[in-house]
Amino acid sequence: MTTTRDYYEILGVSKDATEAEIKKEYRKLAMKYHPDKNKEPDAEEKFKEISEAYAVLSDTEKREQYDRFGHAGIDSRYTQEDIFRGADFRGFEDLEDILGGIFGGAFGGFGGFGGFGGRQQRRGPVRGSDLRYDMTITLEQAAKGTETTINVPRAERCDVCGGTGAKPGTSPKTCSNCHGSGQVTHARDTPFGRFMSTTTCNVCHGTGEEIEEPCPACRGTGKQKKVRKISVKTPKGADNGMRLKISGEGEDGSPGAPPGDLYVVIHVEPHKLFERAGDDILFELPVNFSQAALGADVMVPTLHGKVKMSIKLGTQTHSILRLKGKGMPYLHGRGQGDQLVRVIVKTPTKLTDEQKELLKKLNLPNEGETAKHSKGGKGIFDKVKEAFD
Ligand SMILES: [Zn+2]
Ligand SMILES: [Zn+2]
Repeated sequence: MTTTRDYYEILGVSKDATEAEIKKEYRKLAMKYHPDKNKEPDAEEKFKEISEAYAVLSDTEKREQYDRFGHAGIDSRYTQEDIFRGADFRGFEDLEDILGGIFGGAFGGFGGFGGFGGRQQRRGPVRGSDLRYDMTITLEQAAKGTETTINVPRAERCDVCGGTGAKPGTSPKTCSNCHGSGQVTHARDTPFGRFMSTTTCNVCHGTGEEIEEPCPACRGTGKQKKVRKISVKTPKGADNGMRLKISGEGEDGSPGAPPGDLYVVIHVEPHKLFERAGDDILFELPVNFSQAALGADVMVPTLHGKVKMSIKLGTQTHSILRLKGKGMPYLHGRGQGDQLVRVIVKTPTKLTDEQKELLKKLNLPNEGETAKHSKGGKGIFDKVKEAFD
């Protein structure tokens, strides 16, 4: 993700915009911020932003995911590469060079339309794949931040052949099928003219090299599966679906190419007592009849330990009391959210004779009337309190 702004806002379309409207607005903005034409310093950033917004909103599945979960929904599911993979950029072939130049490996090109004079796919070192690791933490860990060591199985460069896949002492030969280019070009005649399409060579799989004697350690793949211990820090206030990028800890690339990145996706376990609502924590506090009617001081659990809370006289069930600063730490910036305590008044279901008697004596007023307190001495309210506490 390169932006945190709303994708609809970026393209200036409404939430229910049609595919055609989205495409139209993207074209307009892409022309405006085209880095070749627009020399303002932030043109490339803007161009990136609108292209990402378009890639997501033009794909039904990604758009639905975004509508439901926002950026977190996209981040938790797709790498930058995935965002652009499968996005419909047909009709924008003139932008191919630019998109390829900005997004590099993440941008897959338009595939099959080599005849448009698009970017030549360069053969050579291939960057390693990105990896995803799902990590579950408790709500307490989300609040306090954690540092954990995870075991990540990944493909690493074979240390016997150095990643070439050729048996030590031998070297790979130029591929006889593609003559080393890694690609094979086919011409296709259609009513609209001749289209050239380029595909990856199926003999060397794009490397341009054929291995005659494979390395015994990796059977010619150049890669070995290894489990790597990697330390991961989660920030205070981490939320469900959050994705942490650990640069360079993905799979190894081919010799001379950089490794991929590791993305750790955070899952926060549901909590027995607390429910999270953004930076706030919701908590339901059961109180008995007399506590609600007469008021009481109670101890309430929070993520930051127990705190004393006063329930006022005459508190209604489902009233919400706020414990300032007892929620989740803000992920960005200092401070923390609140804990919202919903008071649930438990009406007694089993009453002793004494309790029944006291309640009858109370003769509680209906709504709109005011309760009269007995004056002096141990009033009826105190007796009720004693009987129900
Ligand atoms: Zn090897
Ligand atoms: Zn080949």
